[in-house]
This record gives sequence, C-alpha cells and structure tokens, in this order.
Amino acid sequence: MPPIARVEPLTTTRALRGPFDYRLPPALADADVGTLLAVPFAGRELLGVVVERATSSEVPDERLAEPRARVEPALPAELVELARWIAAEYCSTFSRALQLVLPPGAGRGVAPRVRVRELLTAEISREGRAALADGARLTERQRVVLERLAAGGPLPATATGADHGGLRRLADRGLLVLEPRAQRRRPLVQSVGARAPTAPALTAEQRAALEPVLAALVAGEAGRFLLHGVTGSGKTEVYLQAAQAALAAGRSVLVLVPEIALAPQTVARFQARFGDTVAVLHSQLGQGERYDEWLRLRGGEARIAVGPRSAVFAPLADLGLVIVDEEHEPAYKHEGDPRYDARRVAAWRARQAGAVLLNGSATPRPESVHALARLRLSQRVDGRPLPPVEVLDMRDARHPLHPTTREALGDVRRAQRKAIVLVNRRGWSNFLSCRHCGHVWSCPQCDVALVLHQRDGALACHHCGHRERIPTTCTACGSASVARHGAGTERIETELLEALGDPEFPILRLDADTARGGKGAVARTLERFDRARAGVLVGTQMVAKGHDFPDVTLGVVLDADQTLRFPDFRAEERTFALVAQLAGRAGRGGEGSGRVLVQTLSPAAPSIVAAARHDADGFLAGELERRRTLTYPPFASLIRLTCSAEAADDAAAAAQAVRERISAPDAVVLGPAPLFRLRGRERSQLVVKAPRRRAAIASVAAAVDAVARTALGRRVQLSADVDPQ
Ligand code: ADP
Ligand code: ZN
Ligand code: ZN
Repeated sequence: MPPIARVEPLTTTRALRGPFDYRLPPALADADVGTLLAVPFAGRELLGVVVERATSSEVPDERLAEPRARVEPALPAELVELARWIAAEYCSTFSRALQLVLPPGAGRGVAPRVRVRELLTAEISREGRAALADGARLTERQRVVLERLAAGGPLPATATGADHGGLRRLADRGLLVLEPRAQRRRPLVQSVGARAPTAPALTAEQRAALEPVLAALVAGEAGRFLLHGVTGSGKTEVYLQAAQAALAAGRSVLVLVPEIALAPQTVARFQARFGDTVAVLHSQLGQGERYDEWLRLRGGEARIAVGPRSAVFAPLADLGLVIVDEEHEPAYKHEGDPRYDARRVAAWRARQAGAVLLNGSATPRPESVHALARLRLSQRVDGRPLPPVEVLDMRDARHPLHPTTREALGDVRRAQRKAIVLVNRRGWSNFLSCRHCGHVWSCPQCDVALVLHQRDGALACHHCGHRERIPTTCTACGSASVARHGAGTERIETELLEALGDPEFPILRLDADTARGGKGAVARTLERFDRARAGVLVGTQMVAKGHDFPDVTLGVVLDADQTLRFPDFRAEERTFALVAQLAGRAGRGGEGSGRVLVQTLSPAAPSIVAAARHDADGFLAGELERRRTLTYPPFASLIRLTCSAEAADDAAAAAQAVRERISAPDAVVLGPAPLFRLRGRERSQLVVKAPRRRAAIASVAAAVDAVARTALGRRVQLSADVDPQ
C-alpha cells in the first residue's frame, strides 16, 4: 500500500469540506503535515496542505488521485494545528484558516507568486588568489576585478566592474566562481525614535515586574502575565529584557503590535537591540521582503518576529515568549473570515509551546485583568506625575471648542509648545439635515447618515464609501436651508488653522483620510509633528496610539462620550482608554507643564470620572463588577451572528431559524434584532451570551451549517463572530 496524504485543498467554498485522500508517488513519499502540494481537485488543480499522514484510505486505490508536485516552502506542522484550532474557534473552515498561515505570496493559484531572489554572484577562487599573488598573466582590468573580489568577498556580478563576458572568461580559467545565490530583500529599518542599543539599568519597579517573567522563562514554565503601566513607565524596556532572556534560553520570541504605522518606535527599538535576529512582518513590506523575512524565521536565522495582528502566524520554532503590546487595541481583531482575535491566538500559541505570555497596556482589558497575573508599573521612568485632567461640560455649548479649550490652545501657541486634539469623527460635520422639513441625508446603500467632507466637496458614507455632491437644496422639500451638525477632524482643523495656524505653528491632521494619502502618509505626518518646534496635531483615535512625543503639553478630547453612545458593552472601557491614553501622552515636556481637557456631554459617566482621576484600578474593579452582574466577558463569551440578504424578511427568518437550532442550555440568545442596512443588504442579528464557551461555539457553528444548507439559507449570507469587538 503506498503512503496516503490527507490534504485540505485551499478553496473558500464552505460546501467542500476536506480533507481528501491522495496517494503519494515515490517522489513525494516524504510529504508530511505542512507540506504544500499541487493537487488535482474537481477538474482543476489547486494548492493543498497535507494535514495528516495515513497508511490506508477508505477510497479504493484505483480511485485515489496523486498530487502533481510539491510547492516550496512547507509550513511548520504547528501552524497546521493552529489553523485547525482557529477554524473551530471562529466558526470557519479549515481551508480558510490555513490560508491565514501560508507563506507570503502562496495561496492564490498553485504557483507561488514570490520566490527567493537569486543574483549571479562572483567569488574569487584559490587559483584566482594565487594568480594575483604570483603575477600571472592578467589584463589590468582583470587584475582590478580580482583584487576587488579578494578584498570584498563574494559580490553580485553587476558590482564586480566587469561585464558578463569578462567574468565568464575568468571563470573559465578557474580564477573565480560564478553562481546564482539567494539574496535577502531587506526591509528598510525604521529609525524613528531608535535609542541606544544597550540596555539601561532597570528601575526598581521594572526589576520587580521582570522578575516573575524571568523566573518562568528560566524554569520553562508557561506563565501568563499582564504588564499594566502608564505610557512612559518603561514597559517596552521590560519586553526587551524579557526577550533577551528568552533568546539566552535558546527560545524564540513573538512580539505583536497593534498597527505598524503607529508603532514604528517599538519595532525600531527591537531592531536596535537585536539587529538581524529580528524579522519584521507586515503588509507595508513588499511581498519579496515579507517572503524573505518569513524564510529567515522558518529557517531559525531570525529568532524574534515583530509585527501586527497577522504576525501571530509567524513560523517560529521553540517559541519561548509571546508579547502583546497595547493589548487593549481593537485592531487585534480581524474583520474577515475567520474573524480571529490575535490576542487569543497568541495566548493559544503560548500555551501550546509552553511559552510565557506577556500582555502590556496602560489601559488593559478587564478580561486580561481577570485572567492574567498583573505586574504593575505605577510611575513614569522620568518621575513626572500624570497631568491633571479637567472635565468640561458641553451641555450648553454653542461652539465645538469650549472657551477653556480655546484659551488653553492659545496659551500653547504663545508658549510655542505642542498640543494634541482628539476628535472622534473624521470629515467636517457628522450629518446634514434640512431646517425646513427635517430631512436627513443618508446613504442609499446603508441606513446611516452621510458625513460632510468639505474639502472634497462631497458627502461620504463611512461604511461603504458611497459619495455624492454636497447638496445646496433639500432633496425632499426644495428648501435651501441646510443645517450641519457636529464637528469632525476636518472642521476642527480648519477652525484651528483660522484661529492659530501660521508657518511657525502648523496644524496637522491625522485620520483615515490622511492614511489614504498613500504609503507612508501617516508616518510622514507623525514625523512632521515630531520635528516641528510647536504646533497642533488634530485627529481621530490614531493620535493617541503608540507613538510618543516627548514635548506635548496639552491634550484635548472633544466629544469624549461619542464612544459611550454606541450600544456596546465595551463603551465604558473604550472611553476610559481614550482619555487615559491621551493623558499618558501629555505633560512630559517640563515640570508642571501638562494639562488634559475632556469635553463631554456626560461629565458624570463613570469612565470619564475615573479617567479624570487616573483611577485605573477603581475603573477596572467597577467594570468587572458590572460585567459580572450582566454576564458579559470575561464571565461569558459573546457570539454574534449576522444574517444579510436582499430581503429583510429572509434575513430575519434565517436568524430565527438559527436561533431555534442553538442548543446550549445555559446560553442566553438575544434577537433576532434588525441591524441597519449595509451596502444594500438588509441585516438581522443574534447575540449569544454563553458561560460555557466551547459548547456554545460548537452549537452555533452546527446551527449555521444546518441553516446554510436550507433553501432559505442559500438566499442569506450567515456570518458568525466569536468575541465581537
Ligand atoms: P512604555 O513602553 O511604558 O511607554 P518605555 O519603555 O518606552 O515606556 O520607556 C519610556 C522612556 O524611558 C524611553 O525613552 C525609554 O528608553 C526610557 N527608559 C525605560 N526604562 C529605563 C530605565 N530603566 N532607565 C532609563 N531610561 C529608561
Ligand atoms: Zn427639506
Ligand atoms: Zn453606505
């Protein structure tokens, strides 16, 4: 009996459930778990992953197909196991989960789209050196080429100073060796904020925090820690020294950051400390660079992987330490199928590998506070206290900027200092309405208000991208009186430009519209602000993330309760994080110079009151109590099911059908409830609150599968989201 490989063909159709058996011909007999194969499948050729080996098959031998060829490089077997778990954990398919863990460039089609880059390389031979030494017959040109190779080691053929024919003639005489060699495409090293590569002596607090982490690393135990410390308290330094210890113990390190554009400093510090041992994996790299970084990790040449969400699939062996920086960031949740949460995937990998998990944040999630051993850094390294936070009541305000805010910004300009202003909405106005008949301009595809973008002369939908011209008259009644409500980044930027801006005091904007200004637009804006002597950075939540400007003296949050108005159990947590993160970034310039202003319509909201007092412990304790009472995470898992269809009735009926099939005894199922229309699709949703996670996920997955196979199910798109954000 020839060996059998169980192969998952990489398709996205849910209907085809592998794995399928293939007979391995002698040339492929060593194909094992993780090997990629080109396989015949349903009349086509597909890329498939070996997920199991077997010695026999239930398929009769004469009907077994053979794979056509091996596709390099193979996946580590651990990543195949990881994909198997992700498929189950996030109600997806094995095939879709495998596509997450593939090497860069693989997956679409059988042939990989990237390969190792090979360059023709010349290297001097022993005969060549001898020829130089005893003055053998060489032309002047040939002598120069050989001397260059003798001094500089192997060189790309194009860098030798000789043309191809010239090199060939020398190679034919045996004086040099010409051969293609793999060339690493090296990602550009970020220099922003890179500091001295040597480790500073740790503060007493840092030592105390690091101690249990090191103890677990040395003992080879899988500790799970949460490093809770304000911005500037030296968390990154603790990560770096923990990573050092893991490397010393012969293990590898995974470092996750929320968004590469916003965290160049963290990446740069790892590179400065560990050099080429660090591989960076993110989507802004060219595919060739990403491929080469992946291979360096796969081959063990690089031992530290740093990157955002998808770097959690880095092919690291002997994982010893997993770091999740800014662990509260929602960017760790992936919004496509499978809807994985990189934080949970990271924790799973750590558990599988017996590695230490180290999450860090200034505003950790209540879930992590509940589940992980907390290590505290209560002081900034520079010893400066956190700036005072003033709450400004906006309930009677007529202008988007409170008088105190305007005054404070004026002070910053007079003193030639820097301020950050956080606005929760991009664009100019949140929505437009007719003063005469009350008509509100909304998206024709989605039931949401259109946002005014003055500079583009357009109303835009922030959900589907629909755009239309700014109206001059009401489409419902013809009135010419159109009111603009609320203020977005664009309007605040303009207000500030008019009130304060000049060449010495730039007003810079940072939001998703900036980000669309091309590769590196975000980094350029951040750098400009960093280099400016004074000025204001206006933007969405992006301005309060990751990066760290030492000389910001004023932080302002406009409309702080905007996040509170979402019907979401994380609303309080988000609002607290927003204010606390901004506060952590202000007031590091000079003694007593920091100040934070919070404009809000809900001055008494617990999250705002706690943030104003810098009371993270009080907030977390209250929040955990509230969640316990309402059985929210971490005391239950949430699963959201969204059904979308052409017809609202179909969407609702499908949600109801799934609801009737869910049999998790202690789970509470809420809904079906209508959701706003999105991209022309009517939607209905269910929310499952389940104390017993595994049983609930399995039950929902089975219910979705069953409904998807009915006639109704074929008219509806069903999407399950485990741990929705
Ligand atoms: P966090 O990650 O908590 O924001 P960092 O690790 O970036 O904090 O530390 C803030 C600043 O203090 C950085 O400039 C860092 O280089 C410096 N720093 C951290 N730890 C020490 C230390 N033990 N001694 C001196 N400087 C330190
Ligand atoms: Zn009208
Ligand atoms: Zn829309």
